[in-house]
Amino acid sequence: MVTSALNRSATAEAPRRVTILGATGSIGTSTLSVIAERPGAFSVDAVTANSNATELAAIARRTGARLAVIADEAAYPDLRSALAGSGIAAAAGPAAVVEAAMRPVDLVVAAIVGAAGLAPTFAAVSAGQRVALANKECLVSAGTLFMSVARRAGVEILPLDSEHNAIFQVLAGHGDAGIERIVITASGGPFRTWSRERMATATPAEALRHPNWTMGRKITIDSATLMNKGLELIEAHYLFRQPGEKLDVLIHPQSIVHGLVSFSDGYVIAALSPPDMRTPIAHCLAWPQASPGAGRKLDLAALGSLEFAPPDLDRFPALRIARSALDSGGWATNILSAANEIAVSAFLAGQIGFLEIAGIVDQALTRAASAKRASAPASIEEAVALDAEGRRIAMQLVNAAGRSP
Ligand code: NAD
Ligand code: MG
Repeated sequence: MVTSALNRSATAEAPRRVTILGATGSIGTSTLSVIAERPGAFSVDAVTANSNATELAAIARRTGARLAVIADEAAYPDLRSALAGSGIAAAAGPAAVVEAAMRPVDLVVAAIVGAAGLAPTFAAVSAGQRVALANKECLVSAGTLFMSVARRAGVEILPLDSEHNAIFQVLAGHGDAGIERIVITASGGPFRTWSRERMATATPAEALRHPNWTMGRKITIDSATLMNKGLELIEAHYLFRQPGEKLDVLIHPQSIVHGLVSFSDGYVIAALSPPDMRTPIAHCLAWPQASPGAGRKLDLAALGSLEFAPPDLDRFPALRIARSALDSGGWATNILSAANEIAVSAFLAGQIGFLEIAGIVDQALTRAASAKRASAPASIEEAVALDAEGRRIAMQLVNAAGRSP
């Protein structure tokens, strides 16, 4: 009798409390879809968004969240009226997003895009919360600091990015011993087979047409330039504590193999899944328990064949620029991330051409280096200040190179 009571209490677990930062985005929406597939397994505490009050309120009502926070204060009246009578608390402003990240839960899904995610994700980690990390910009902007804050707080960072989630799972079974190489794959994006001449005239609409993944606009453009893979190399460096020379990128148009680790005994262990972010999200949400899975199942026989090729750094210089920033250190990766955000926005606004994205990031790095910014940010304030500097330099370059939108 005692045994069966124990067994029951071991299986009938309380719902896992989850906060979603960036709930209205692509990762946020996929996270909500995984949560909806497992009724009773999760309870949503706080949800946040930038400015879409109507959608945020709908999410909060649907999930029974306790708190909804909108970063844009101008949208606060809309949020309040959309939540009227629901009993769900509402708040607004960047400081309120940070506070939401610190409310005690079992897992914070960090899915705000860009440097806007820095302060809330850092706050979650500093408060000792386990984080499922989608916001790779945190690591690119301040990776050493981020990982040391996490270590000090004794929290696990669960990589939600598909490639890093794959590597995390490979290493979970094998540990760090004997790692020779960590390889992350890239689909190659919509311009995988395009010439530089053709890319020079690529429109935002063409660059936003990703062959395999449906994602937010910024990461979709990053996938077209391959800057995303550069950011991911840097992300892998901090997450898995490996030097740049042990990290590599492989073009794999089918996006089935997400990450591979070569070990010194000659084995290569890889993790495969269909290109669906719900799989790594479900893994993070369930961790350390086994995930019941989400999304489609992999059918290799139906796929028939998988292709691999080295990346072409002449056609996709962003990858080389990101790697060289990784070699230069934490100040350079911070500037890289900031300048890239500005350049991507300028491209989407029609101010610069596609090839100028990488050009502006490269020039911003050269300018920042000559300004002798040579140390990695040692505090979140330093990271934010350096990021602002990178944006300022990149804005000047956009204005010099750009045309009116
Ligand atoms: P998205 O643009 O679809 O969503 C971004 C979310 O952040 C939205 O909820 C938006 O409201 C919120 N946000 C934007 N600016 C904000 C601000 N200033 N303050 C507060 N909130 C703000 O982006 P996404 O594609 O979901 O990507 C989110 C993060 O996850 C990025 O860092 C991206 O690199 C990473 N990621 C995305 C995918 C993917 O498949 N989409 C895969 C791997 C990693
Ligand atoms: Mg990825």
